[in-house]
Amino acid sequence: MSVRGAAKGVKIGLEIHCQMTRLKTKLFCSCSSDYRDKDANELVCPTCFGIPGTLPVLNEKAVEFAIRIATALGCEVAGTTSFYRKNYFYPDLTKNYQISQYDKAGGVPIAAGGHVQLDKKKVRIRRIQLEEDPGKLTYEGTIEKSSYSLVDYNRAGVALVEIVTEPDFESAKEAKVFLEKLRAMVEALGVSDGELEGAMRCDANVSVAGGGRVEVKNISSFKEVEKALNYEILRQTTFSGTEPSGVNETRHWDERRSITISLRLKEGEQDYRYFPEPDLPAVALSREYVASVRRGTPEVPEARAKRYVEQYGVAKQIATELSRDEPLSRYFEETAEIAGKGPEVANWVMGDSRERIQKMLAGEGKRVPPQGLADLLRLVDQGKATRDQARRVFREMLDTGKSAEELAGNADVGVLSDEHAVEQLVDKVLKESDVAGEAKDNPKAFNYLVGQVLRAERKADPKVVARIIRKKLS
Ligand SMILES: [Zn+2]
Repeated sequence: MSVRGAAKGVKIGLEIHCQMTRLKTKLFCSCSSDYRDKDANELVCPTCFGIPGTLPVLNEKAVEFAIRIATALGCEVAGTTSFYRKNYFYPDLTKNYQISQYDKAGGVPIAAGGHVQLDKKKVRIRRIQLEEDPGKLTYEGTIEKSSYSLVDYNRAGVALVEIVTEPDFESAKEAKVFLEKLRAMVEALGVSDGELEGAMRCDANVSVAGGGRVEVKNISSFKEVEKALNYEILRQTTFSGTEPSGVNETRHWDERRSITISLRLKEGEQDYRYFPEPDLPAVALSREYVASVRRGTPEVPEARAKRYVEQYGVAKQIATELSRDEPLSRYFEETAEIAGKGPEVANWVMGDSRERIQKMLAGEGKRVPPQGLADLLRLVDQGKATRDQARRVFREMLDTGKSAEELAGNADVGVLSDEHAVEQLVDKVLKESDVAGEAKDNPKAFNYLVGQVLRAERKADPKVVARIIRKKLS
């Protein structure tokens, strides 16, 4: 059976666990959630451990952050949401349950619906829910052979938002593209630093037509997702005979060996004995509250790009690239508002000057305010400077902090509008140059001639020069 042919009918759904790393404290207590590079079991309290007599208190900011994500994904936010206990016995949570949310038996997760648009397809979001991260287990050697494991509860109770997709992916590649998009989104929303180790983890449900549903757990970085999914698709389509097939099971991604290994037959939801968390009241999310969070939600790059096309008339590709750089986007917008010429400003900030502007926005060298760039573009517009001169002036503005007007007073800036004078220059260059003969059919020679004229007269407008040379050659 060919793998390529057999890989048809692949369905993948993802469950992404995203730590809200921008929160200062955990989801239900005031312990710091900044657990990276800390000594083990340092950031814990009786609530983290679920010791009798303690009560969890919901982190309000976590609710706000989850609504930001729901907004960016186009999900519907619930009017009232509630927490459930997911019961299981495992040393990563001392309580023997995880406080999570549930979408059955009367449970309502914080948001549902929505989608992410990939190039050619829509990936539907099933739901978004809040839950606490378990502690972290470390094994000596491999998970199968280790004789003991170490547990660190610093991570226990850190706020996660779980994003569950419908099984809309048909390849590992699609899943990877989606995850990269999602990471850029949560970063732009100011919710998570997705680059941090373990900040975004993912479980995947993979099934191949005719087979069972296999959940691959423990994919700890997006780099690994494509590898893990490709391995699993290959394994399911070419099973060796020794591996179980056609059953529902949970497998573990072993990063070191780059294989999945069977952990257990998949537990059904009933195994978790979900029931409403008695220590937390249901949370009412009024329309006014949700609307106010939405208003304060930062714009994600995709929405920004769309707006640049519609509002400023910027070409789609430039808008897409520009919108990924937030400081540059702000600079563009402020300038475009003053100059009133979106496409020109976009071309400018994304053109040759891009790197210099980025450095300037990062605090390097002199600052050219949006008004300064708008003034410069106006000089071009009024025919007082050529585009080439403007580029030169802009570099000088960045170097000296002087204004466009000041620098344009320079003898080298200005446009020679007298066509007769340009014609005389062209005649002179054509007469003296030995490439004039071939310039008609050779663009390189043609551009060389234009350059020669501009060298003789920096104020000549390249467009006028080119037009006159073309006329003379024909
Ligand atoms: Zn705590």
